[in-house]
Amino acid sequence: MKSKLFIIAIFCAFCLPETQAQVRQVQSALTASGADLWNIPQNINVCWENPTSANSADRTRVRQAVARTWEAESQVRFTGWGTCTSWSRGIRILIADEHPRVKKLGRPLGGFHDGMVLNFDFNDWRGCADHIPDNRCRCKQSTTGRNQCIEWIAIHEFGHALGFAHEQNRSDCACDDAPAGSSAGWFVTPCDINSTMNYCSPTWINGGNLSGYDIMGVRYLYGQPNQKYSVFDESGKIEVAVFSRASTTRSQHSNLTIAVPNDYVVIGGGGVAARTGSGALLTASYPNSDLSSWIVSSKDHVRSSPHVLSGYAIALKVKGLTRRQLKQQISFVQNTSARASHPSASASVSSSYHLIGGGFKVNWQGSGSLATASYPSGNSWRAAAKDHIRPDPSTITTYAIGIKRYILNVGNLDVEVIQKQSDFAAHADVSIAMDKDYALVGGGGEVKYSGSGNMLWRLEPDISDFQNQRYNISSKDHIRANNAYIKGYAIGLKVR
Ligand SMILES: [Zn+2]
Repeated sequence: MKSKLFIIAIFCAFCLPETQAQVRQVQSALTASGADLWNIPQNINVCWENPTSANSADRTRVRQAVARTWEAESQVRFTGWGTCTSWSRGIRILIADEHPRVKKLGRPLGGFHDGMVLNFDFNDWRGCADHIPDNRCRCKQSTTGRNQCIEWIAIHEFGHALGFAHEQNRSDCACDDAPAGSSAGWFVTPCDINSTMNYCSPTWINGGNLSGYDIMGVRYLYGQPNQKYSVFDESGKIEVAVFSRASTTRSQHSNLTIAVPNDYVVIGGGGVAARTGSGALLTASYPNSDLSSWIVSSKDHVRSSPHVLSGYAIALKVKGLTRRQLKQQISFVQNTSARASHPSASASVSSSYHLIGGGFKVNWQGSGSLATASYPSGNSWRAAAKDHIRPDPSTITTYAIGIKRYILNVGNLDVEVIQKQSDFAAHADVSIAMDKDYALVGGGGEVKYSGSGNMLWRLEPDISDFQNQRYNISSKDHIRANNAYIKGYAIGLKVR
């Protein structure tokens, strides 16, 4: 069963009131449509209707829970947090021993008196019911349980405040719990069983954590934090981020190293040289030895063509694993060819690994040798290059990156390779979309040419729109006309 966040469109306050017996339904919800989203960039004011000094620590708990979730993962900022006045705008929170809830979804909550109700006592509303096993009775069990109730429920209610309805209401989500609140509107992500907005999540409201799709949903609607692009697989355990750099000057031969933050492992990358002018071709796209950077190189050829090179590093994080633990699950292999005018080499990972990426470095010294292929084939990565017009026999080093097929405490991993062929052209282009339940981890292409040759200038991951993760591959002939086509590849990873 897959799942996710969505937004409602019909206002129906309390049309399905939650009963005491339905506890985990931390709340009900109502309207929301595109028009009910808060503007961005905009700080959303929050105030307390009835704060006391006795509940100061609990109010801090709420504020910190919201900061480490919705705020940390998007451009949303909740500000103020003082005592409400009669004219306060934004979200007005009433502290009461009642069913926690919001009375509107999204922006209509702005200025609505007692619009969000949070419970700090759990005496009258206990947050549990006899027929519900598991941890939903935690609110009265212990101080830890009580504090978790306060935090987790606040995260859920602030999700409603941002415009998210209950995930289990969706027609495409299988869930035994009755819908709560009304349902309509549009689905921002695939149905998400792990959403903190889903009563059917395996851990009650996902244990106060945003799921991968929760994160992608809030970023989609309210902006990426710090301009970092990342996507998650459907389990929320696989996070892939793409980091990029461009050369700061135009030059005939360009080299870039794209380093990633030290909690990621680099597993792929790419580069974009130049199509226009006389053009510039790729000569290297590969990881450094400790998988902390991706390196890209390009050159013009025969005709001068100063250009800007863009480079991309695709970096992986797996929930529950440190960088060191993740790196222990990764295999990194390289192999160098013999010297040839058209060198090619394969590097393979063993059968206990899935191949998830690879790259190449053409070791040219004279006039140059230019990449024509860098792509996955079973458990091998293959790469090839050619000299062009001017002879320059070279070697090529091919790199293969694999990840264990099974990781303890994470699960079985699945890899999907999608293949697509370009048109037959002097400038061939192919763009391949990854299926939504996977996170894009890489891609590649093989230029199929005969005659004088046609070479790669673009190997480009693009996850800026998480609903449309793509890998783009382009090639061109150079000085001498030569049509070709590209067999292109996109690679996705998920926890099964
Ligand atoms: Zn709710």
